[in-house]
Amino acid sequence: MAKSYDVVVIGAGPAGYVAAIRCAQLGLRTACVDEWVNKKGKPALGGTCLNVGCIPSKDLLQASENYYRLQHQFGAYGIQADKVSIDISTMIAHKDRVVNDLTSGIATLFKANKITAIHGHGRLLDGKRVEISDPGSNKPKETIEGQSIIIASGSDAIDIGEAPTDGDRIVNSTGALEFLEVPKRLAVIGAGTIGLELGSVWRRLGSEVVLLEALDTFLPAVDQQIAKEAMRQFTRQGLDIQLGTRVVSASVKQKRVSIRHRGKNGEQELKVDRLIVAVGRRPNTGNLFSPESGLLLDERGFINVNEACRTNLPDVYAIGDVVRGPMLAHKGSEEGVAVAEVIAGGTGHVNYEAVPWVIYTAPEIAWVGKTEQALKEAGEPYKAGAFPFAANGRARAMEEAVGMVKIVAHEATDRVLGVHIIGPFASELIAEAVLAIEYCASAEDLARTIHAHPTLSEALHEAALAVDKRALHKVN
Ligand code: FAD
Ligand code: AMP
Repeated sequence: MAKSYDVVVIGAGPAGYVAAIRCAQLGLRTACVDEWVNKKGKPALGGTCLNVGCIPSKDLLQASENYYRLQHQFGAYGIQADKVSIDISTMIAHKDRVVNDLTSGIATLFKANKITAIHGHGRLLDGKRVEISDPGSNKPKETIEGQSIIIASGSDAIDIGEAPTDGDRIVNSTGALEFLEVPKRLAVIGAGTIGLELGSVWRRLGSEVVLLEALDTFLPAVDQQIAKEAMRQFTRQGLDIQLGTRVVSASVKQKRVSIRHRGKNGEQELKVDRLIVAVGRRPNTGNLFSPESGLLLDERGFINVNEACRTNLPDVYAIGDVVRGPMLAHKGSEEGVAVAEVIAGGTGHVNYEAVPWVIYTAPEIAWVGKTEQALKEAGEPYKAGAFPFAANGRARAMEEAVGMVKIVAHEATDRVLGVHIIGPFASELIAEAVLAIEYCASAEDLARTIHAHPTLSEALHEAALAVDKRALHKVN
């Protein structure tokens, strides 16, 4: 007889492992099936995020920023460091250690919460049964069943026929975390979040970096005032961002990548040492369910779910990158918690209006809520206030006085509709803005809140004051 659980979770990324932990906390007998194997061939929990996504990319961003600042920014304090060098294999080993510690940490949490971790590929059959096979094999070894099923199978990097990856010279984001030498010339297809982050890592380490972006607009989802400032800063750092440029082919000859691209100046050729393909991610639904299961996908290939992450099948939920909405780790985790609460008989809810977005470049970009261009398009009356980090004492002392905080609030009610930050530690500062949106705060609420001095958060305070044209440390 098939082993039976209260809940079976497919996938142990930040959506699935968090869902499993919350289910277990709520007293549900929980199994989590995951097929990930790390580069040593060992099972590793944590999915894309911990293994090849959020964590390793941030580790390399930190390493490369430390190296860059020591060379180019510490001189302003009189700190001289001659002959600064970086050992790339040590940098990569640091990243691997952090990843390994965190993925093992999930295994420890699973044990502590008495979650049954099953290494293998899960496939949903009819009747809430999940067939398990060894990763890479199609031979089923076991079938288990759950009263409820949570699918959290995540996403994969999109491959494009124009630039087929070879795992060496042409790579996706995973390969770009493993270069063992700094490419002299590097191209990135796609100037989105992942392309900008990975391009920044290798630029700071010395690569000449060209980003080829098909769209004419830079970071279209970002408030365009912030995007314009980002373009200015990135260009100053030497990132060559070519908009309106579509790659038509790429091939490797004698360890060089030859790229043909079409843009404003017609078709051109570019030769580089390495090419990163960062054109987005697609939901991972390969061999995930049998036709008899009856599970439905939406028109874009995501698992079809409603607001509450319910699929078309009773007691079958789907969360994270495999369903609609932003492909962000924390969005998946929140969906995991909400679904677990519902399965345990409680209530769960995700406020999709209050999901923070972050691009971990330098300066960082972070936002929550509506952009100015979206409000204009919707014809919603708003007022905006901004404050530059150039007028913030802490940012000046940090030698990071670039960028701004911008707040948009409803013209009539003063309710905060969006907060947009480009600047130092934007990723941390945005938390206050998320709370403001979550609690339906007004700009005046933020303006009346005491912020410690001297902190970067004062820029948020001043931007809130600026909404009402009463910022104290700039001319309104
Ligand atoms: P995943 O993390 O993709 O996990 C899915 C898991 O399910 C995997 O372990 C997979 O092996 C397993 N699986 C799939 N199918 C099956 C099956 N049939 N049977 C068994 N197991 C299966 N997001 C952020 O919020 N912040 C960031 O800074 C950030 N940086 C990123 C940087 C990079 C380079 C990349 C690639 C992504 C980044 N992301 C970031 C996105 C983030 O990684 C994803 O949004 C997040 O991992 C999605 O979580 P998930 O649990 O839905 O899926
Ligand atoms: P994101 O979805 O944020 O990861 O960004 C991926 C980016 O890649 C998008 O801005 C796409 O416009 C861009 N893109 C997709 N295909 C191509 C292509 N063939 N050439 C250049 N850019 C592309």
